[in-house]
Amino acid sequence: MLLSIIVPTYNEEEVLPDFHSRLSRVLDKLDCDTKIIYVNDGSTDRTIGVINNLRRGDTRIAIVDLSRNFGKEIAMTAGFDYADGDAVVVIDADLQDPPELIPEFVKHYREGFDVVYAQRVSRAGERALKKATAFLFYRLIQGATHIKIPVDTGDFRLLSRRAMDAIKKLREQHRFMKGLYAWIGFPQKAVPYRRDPRQAGRSKWNYWRLWNFALEGFTSFTIAPLKVATYLGITTAFAAFVYAVWVIYKTLAHGDPVAGYPSLMVVILFLGGIQLMTIGVLGEYLGRMFDETKQRPLYFVKEYQPAKN
Ligand code: UDP
Ligand code: MG
Repeated sequence: MLLSIIVPTYNEEEVLPDFHSRLSRVLDKLDCDTKIIYVNDGSTDRTIGVINNLRRGDTRIAIVDLSRNFGKEIAMTAGFDYADGDAVVVIDADLQDPPELIPEFVKHYREGFDVVYAQRVSRAGERALKKATAFLFYRLIQGATHIKIPVDTGDFRLLSRRAMDAIKKLREQHRFMKGLYAWIGFPQKAVPYRRDPRQAGRSKWNYWRLWNFALEGFTSFTIAPLKVATYLGITTAFAAFVYAVWVIYKTLAHGDPVAGYPSLMVVILFLGGIQLMTIGVLGEYLGRMFDETKQRPLYFVKEYQPAKN
C-alpha cells in the first residue's frame, strides 16, 4: 500500500523543519510506503528553499511549486492532482493537525472507510469569538443544506483512491472543501482529536476571510438565501396590502389631513433596504456563475519535482 501525504504550505519557513521531522517519525513507523507532497502555494518567504533542503535529505518528498498564491483549497487540489497511491492524507504544515493521528486514519481506511476525518473536541488557543462564529456557521449550514457537513472538522483527513478521484472531478472555482468532501458520499468515519494552537508563524485567517468562507459555504451548497428573498418579498407585499386597506379606511372615515411624512420615509427606506439586500444576494450567486463560466484552469505549476524513491 502506498500512502501520499499532501501538505499545502504558504509562508511556513519557521515551522516546516519541525513539522517534517514530526511527520517523518510517524511515517517511519507505518507499515506502508509513503510519499510526501509539499505544495508551495506561492510563499513569499523562504519556504521553497526550506522544502528543497528537506527533499535533499528525504527521498519520499515531491514538490509542487505553484505559480502564485492560490489559497489553501486550490493548493490541496493541486496536491490531489499530483498524488498517486491507494490513499492520501491532507495535513496542515503548522502542526495544528497532529501527524500522530495518521496511523489511526490508516487503520480505519483498512476497515473499509473511504473518508476518515479528524473531528475537533477542543479548540485550544482560539478566541471565544472565533469559536462562537464557527459554532454558529456549522449549525446554520447544516440547517440550510441537505448534505451532512460534519461539525468541527477541517481538511485534516484521509481519502481513499476512489474518494480522491471523485473530488478531482469537481473542478469548480469556488471550492468549499468541507462541503465537497461530504457531497461525494462514500463510507465516512470521524476520529476525535484535540486541535493544538499553531506552533509558529501566523494564521492567515481573519474575520473578513471567515465571513467570506461562510458565504462560500452557503452559495456553494444552497440556494436558500435566494428563496428567503422571495418570501421576504411576499411578506412585505402582504404587509403593504394590509397597511393600504387601513390607510384607505382611515381616509374615508376621518378625512385626509396631510400627515405621515415620517411613516412614508420609514416605508421607503425599509423597502429600499430590502431591495438592495436581495439584489446583493442575487449578485453573490451571479458573480459565482460569472467565475465558473470562464472555465479557467484552477492553478498553474511553476515546477514539479517528483519523489526520488
Ligand atoms: N495555506 C496555503 N495557502 C494559503 C493559506 C494557507 O497553502 O493561501 C496553508 C498553510 O500553510 C497551512 C494550512 O494551509 O499549512 C492552514 O493555514 P492556516 O494555519 O493559516 O489556517 P488555520 O489553521 O488558521 O485555519
Ligand atoms: Mg493553522
